[in-house]
This record gives sequence, C-alpha cells and structure tokens, in this order.
Amino acid sequence: MDPQSDPLHTDRHPQTSFQTIIEPFRVHSVEPIAFTTHAERLAALERSRYNLFGLKASEVTIDLLTDSGTGAMSTRQWAGMMMGDESYAGSRSYERFNETVTSITGFSEVLPTHQGRAAERLLFSEAVGSGDVVPSNTHFDTTRANVEHEGAEARDLLIPEGKDSQSEHPFKGNLDTASLESTIEEVGRERVPLVIVTITNNSGGGQPVSLANLRAVREVCDRHGIPLFLDACRFAENAWFVKQREPGYSDHSPLEIAREMFALADGATMSAKKDGMSNIGGFLAMNDRDLAARCRNLLILTEGFPTYGGLAGYDLEAVAVGFWEALDENYLRYRARSTAYLAELAEKAGVPTVRPPGGHAVYLDAARLLPHIPSSQYPAQALACALYLEGGVRGVEIGSLMFGKPQENGTEIPAEMELVRLAVPRRTYTQSHIDYVGEVIAAVARNSQDLRGLRIIDQPLWLRHFTAALEPV
Ligand SMILES: *Cc1c(COP(=O)(O)O)cnc(C)c1O
Repeated sequence: MDPQSDPLHTDRHPQTSFQTIIEPFRVHSVEPIAFTTHAERLAALERSRYNLFGLKASEVTIDLLTDSGTGAMSTRQWAGMMMGDESYAGSRSYERFNETVTSITGFSEVLPTHQGRAAERLLFSEAVGSGDVVPSNTHFDTTRANVEHEGAEARDLLIPEGKDSQSEHPFKGNLDTASLESTIEEVGRERVPLVIVTITNNSGGGQPVSLANLRAVREVCDRHGIPLFLDACRFAENAWFVKQREPGYSDHSPLEIAREMFALADGATMSAKKDGMSNIGGFLAMNDRDLAARCRNLLILTEGFPTYGGLAGYDLEAVAVGFWEALDENYLRYRARSTAYLAELAEKAGVPTVRPPGGHAVYLDAARLLPHIPSSQYPAQALACALYLEGGVRGVEIGSLMFGKPQENGTEIPAEMELVRLAVPRRTYTQSHIDYVGEVIAAVARNSQDLRGLRIIDQPLWLRHFTAALEPV
C-alpha cells in the first residue's frame, strides 16, 4: 500500500521533536535467540575452523553477518502473503508487484527475479560482451563476478574520498566522473555497453551517492550515448541520506527523491532482500523494450515465467508491500539512527570505524585496533572471531581473507583495508541488543593486545572466505 494513503505510514508523528528515535513498530511475534557458554563458543569456533560461515545459527546470539534477507517482515507483509495468487501466468500478485515497481521507479519493463544476482546475470548476459568495460562507483562482488563471467572488465571509479576511511565526505559513494570520461576515451565508447552505479555503495561501506553526482554521470553517459543502470539494492537508504545531506532536498519525501534517482537512469537491478524488506526476491527493470524482451527470454530459460520469475506469488506480495515500507520516513530515520548508534558504541569503546557510518552496516577498522597483527595473519578475521568468542556476536571479515591475492611464491598481496562488517538486519534487533554488542566490542577492545593472528590451513580456489579453514598462529 502506498504510504501516502496510510495513517500508520506517514510522517505525522512528532518524533523529530524528541531526542530518542524509537523503533517505529512494536514486536508482533518473537523468535528466541541462542545463548551459549564461552566453552561452547570455543568448541564451535574450533569445529568451524575459525571461519564464522561454518557456525550454526543456533550457536550465534546476535547475528550481524549480513542484512540480506535477514530482516523481519511486517504484519502487512504477512497479510499480503495470504493474498498470494499462485497462477502460473498473469497472477494478481505480479500485477501488484509490477504496479509498485513501476510507480516507484518509473520503468516500464519489470522482470521479477529470485534475487539481485539473477537480475545481474540477465542484464549482463544480454548487454555485455567479451572485452567490454563496465564502469561503476564500486561493483558489488556478485555484480563484478557476473560482469567478469561475460569476459568483460568491471572497473571501479570511486571518488578518492570514498577510499579514505576517515573522510567525512557526505557522499563517499559518488562515482568519479573525470575517471569515467577518461575510461570511455581510453577504451572507446563501443566497448562501454553501460555504466552501473551502486546505491548505496555496499562494498564501499554503505556510503550514499548524491543526486548531483547521478546527474553528472547521466550527463557523461548522454554525451556518449551510454545507458545508465542503478544497482538499487538500498535505494531507500540512499534517498534518506540525500534528504539529510544534499542541499535542497530536506523537504522532499524519500519517495520523491527515489523517483528522481530512478528518473536519471535507464534501468535498475534490485535485490528485494535489502530495501525490499523481504527474505527473498528482486527485479530487473528498464525502459528499453528490445533489451527487456531478450532478458525475458533468458528469464524463462533459467528462472521461470516472466510473471513470477522464480518467486512464489506470495513472495511478490511481500516485496510489493516491502518497497513502500522501506520508503517510510519513520522507518528510515530509525534505520539510519540505529546504525549510527552502533558506530558510536564502537568508537566509545576505542575501536575505530569507517566514517561516517553507512546505511546498513558499521565497519570496524581492525588494522588500527590490532597493529601488532600483520595483514598476513588476517587481523580482521581475528577480530571477528574474538567478537564471537566473547559474546556470540557474528560479523564478517572484509579484509585480506576476502580480498588478499595469493602469489606464486606463497606470499599474498593484502587487501587495502582490514575491516569487520557488522551488518544490521532490518527491524530485527532492539536497542538493548545493540547495547550488548557495544559491550562485547568494548570487552574485546580492552584485551586487544592479547589477540593473536590466524593462518590459513586449507582454502578453495575462489571465494575462499566462505569456506577457508584457519587456526591461531
Ligand atoms: C546483495 C547485493 C547484490 C546481490 O543481491 P542478491 O539478492 O544477494 O543476489 C547486488 N548488489 C548489491 C549492492 C548488494 O548489496
């Protein structure tokens, strides 16, 4: 339901005149969380060989591994699921999904997909060829993999401030338009099939992209006749940051800002597991009918008929409701505040974070907390394991375990930064849960000089962070 017509989802309550930004919901059904002893956590860590992906969820007390598909759905979404129309072709649920996506994005062609990477695969299979270069602010890892799978190069052209963890630039996700110009000049327009801008920039710390930057990118694309796509997974969080930080937008609603963002693009890929507020789902949307027709053929081949795209009718309903809920101002204010609050707790505990806090996650700077552990001993993985051992909190390493490049002589080129990402699932944990996480961080920080590094004892050929085995040095 459009939030504008719903008294529960307008910005009418006077929250802004009080300091405490409250959760704009109350708890409707509860899921017990697991409590474990120190000995149990140590055994679990040893069994999973110091790889937190190997833990059972039942061994984790606060799970900040990802915000993807891990959020809580609303009563309205669950009610929507009961309205799911499971007709194979032309279901009412698809109509609602389609109307919602078109209303928010303005794109005329909407292809549902089971998640974001499926939309990426359809788009890049049809639009990108071997030897092409696809510029972006920063490709998310599935986006990069799908571009490279086509034999093309995924090139990141982030502004320099975006790579400086301490820069307070308000839009650290912006794409460097001068580098975009020179890339097009260098490789030739015919080898640049499209530009894709990730909002917010997940791999770059969840940092937003300004409307001014999108307009500037659009201008470059127009001059060269290159289509512009958005990786729109966190379009609502991006709209909120624009409202807060970009001059001239404080009176605009997140919906108006989102529409303006999409109007600057020719299409978008989306994972509904993020700002779709759902546990599964996504879409590929665009205005180009011919390209959409080709993508649709591929969709039929691998995902399902174009009116369900690999989803159940009830999933389409949950996502259609979720998109509107993600644009609710009370929700977005709470969302941004709760992420910033976690960052404040970490900094109070003496753990440096990537500044300013992004929309969906806080990034702890392990290289600065643990200067005695060299990158060859994975300081961020050591920190992530310590947070688990101390209090059952699970984050994810984004450092040399994930991005280090093994060399033939047995050494590795380390990642640029050694971070632990604490991603906040949507509408899931309360303030006291986050206070607890803050205490766990503080306890680990107090004994940080005693933490030891790790070494890899077994690893696969690619995406090793998911399955590598480690042990303390
Ligand atoms: C999660 C994500 C994707 C991929 O979506 P999935 O639903 O996990 O396939 C793509 N881009 C960004 C920025 C993401 O955060």
